[in-house]
Amino acid sequence: MSTTTLTRGALAAATTEFLGSGAKKLLIDGKWVESRTGETFETVDPATEQVIGRASAAAPEDVDQAVAAARRALESRAWSGMPPHDRTKLLLRIARVLDEHVEEMAQLETLDNGLPIAVTRNFAARLSTVFEYYAGWCTKIYGDTYPSSDQHFNYTIREPVGVCGQIIPWNGPMMMAAWKIAPAIACGNTVVLKPAEQTPLTAIRMGELLLEAGLPDGVVNILTGYGRVAGEALVNHPGVNKIAFTGSTEVGKHILASSARDLKRVTLELGGKSPNIVFDDADIDLAVAGAMRAFCTNSGQVCVAGSRLFVQRGIHDEFLEKLSAAVAQHRVGDPFDTATTMGPLVSEAQFTRVNGYVDIGRADGATVSLGGDRFTGSGYYVRPTIFSGVNNQMRIAREEIFGPVVAVIPFDDEADVLRQGNDTDFGLASGVWTRDIARAHRVARALKAGNVWINTYFMIDPIAPFGGYKQSGLGRELGRQSVEAYTESKTIWINTPG
Ligand code: NAP
Ligand code: MG
Repeated sequence: MSTTTLTRGALAAATTEFLGSGAKKLLIDGKWVESRTGETFETVDPATEQVIGRASAAAPEDVDQAVAAARRALESRAWSGMPPHDRTKLLLRIARVLDEHVEEMAQLETLDNGLPIAVTRNFAARLSTVFEYYAGWCTKIYGDTYPSSDQHFNYTIREPVGVCGQIIPWNGPMMMAAWKIAPAIACGNTVVLKPAEQTPLTAIRMGELLLEAGLPDGVVNILTGYGRVAGEALVNHPGVNKIAFTGSTEVGKHILASSARDLKRVTLELGGKSPNIVFDDADIDLAVAGAMRAFCTNSGQVCVAGSRLFVQRGIHDEFLEKLSAAVAQHRVGDPFDTATTMGPLVSEAQFTRVNGYVDIGRADGATVSLGGDRFTGSGYYVRPTIFSGVNNQMRIAREEIFGPVVAVIPFDDEADVLRQGNDTDFGLASGVWTRDIARAHRVARALKAGNVWINTYFMIDPIAPFGGYKQSGLGRELGRQSVEAYTESKTIWINTPG
């Protein structure tokens, strides 16, 4: 893999060709088509604020077409009759094709989202693992037999849920697309995917690569466009059997309420305000590095960000000093420079939102220990910001900021930090830093969160389930849990009178 710094004038030929080929179209039934209304929207490079391309804005009529295509594909022999071994081979082919386009996918993601190129290269190289993992499942989706009575044979089978509407956010667009598409098609479903309006490019390119790998027409349809138009139409469509959504808690609640009308299956991956807890017996240097990564990765635009940092009183001042020194080393700047460790936020809206929270933190009486000053050049950059003297009731400790801003909160003992740590509407992730193994297990059990990381942070792998407690989500994705979420169980009884 290339480790060279790029300039925008020296992008890979494939990237330039993709960007230069005009407004991007919608993928419906294996063909790239304009939206019914002809409407397109701009996508912007958040590092330069320059328009880098246009994508089609899907209208409700396009959603109708895509859902109809997905239904036809679902019922076609080419897809429903594809032997599981062949589906395995198909997913492995997709993985190979993605591996052949790592650099190009990384460049498109960096251009569209602002993530540093070193990070997107790493993500792009791991897209294939999601398809490889689910390739293995195609041949292992089966039910059980039950010893109900000797007069009956009783068993279950698992069938695809059907047409799946998948709506994804902008904060890790290509990985989100892989997490959604791979398990859905491994289980024999068909998909209509709507990427976020801020970051349409890598999903479109992934659509091209899926076709190149030989995915039958209509199995995956990709509709770029607006949430309030295309997203709404997908969620309200009677031909859609399941919605898988990743994004804000607010929109997640709205989607769940809309889905109740016809009881669509729903999985939601929503926001967080995750506690990252440092006990006084922790390996301090390890914890400092971990705490920094927990709130700075992806400029803090991560659902699992460790945005509430609880530090035990005995080490509080030393820890804050070391953390501030480490975070001050961050290289905030051009995401195409390989030395950059923090790129811009994704959009002007996020820039305004995050700066607004910095003002709120100050006004509520928290102390700015690092950063906090507004960036004035071009590009939506925010310097990593550490607030100390925070109490858990302040807005910066309760609301998801989605920027590189951490609220440092002191605590007395285990009971105190569990009370405060769990005092949140969210429950997506948590971190614990300690050398005491018994305490690590006790605290892991007591935390009300879908992920607990002990002496590490951000461990996510397609093989392990991922999701949230409370208002951080509904259901689990990845691992075997995605296979359950993308299949229905059918119980069959056969009368076998003697
Ligand atoms: P969002 O509105 O929830 O967007 C996520 C996805 O849902 C996008 O594809 C969006 O389309 C779509 N959408 C929006 N309204 C919809 C509707 N009524 N029906 C169906 N789909 C709809 O999130 P955002 O506005 O981009 O970000 C706002 C905040 O959400 C962030 O600051 C952050 O706190 C949180 N967030 C969390 C995550 C996460 O991973 N948990 C990810 C992103 C954002 P459009 O792109 O057209 O809006
Ligand atoms: Mg963009």
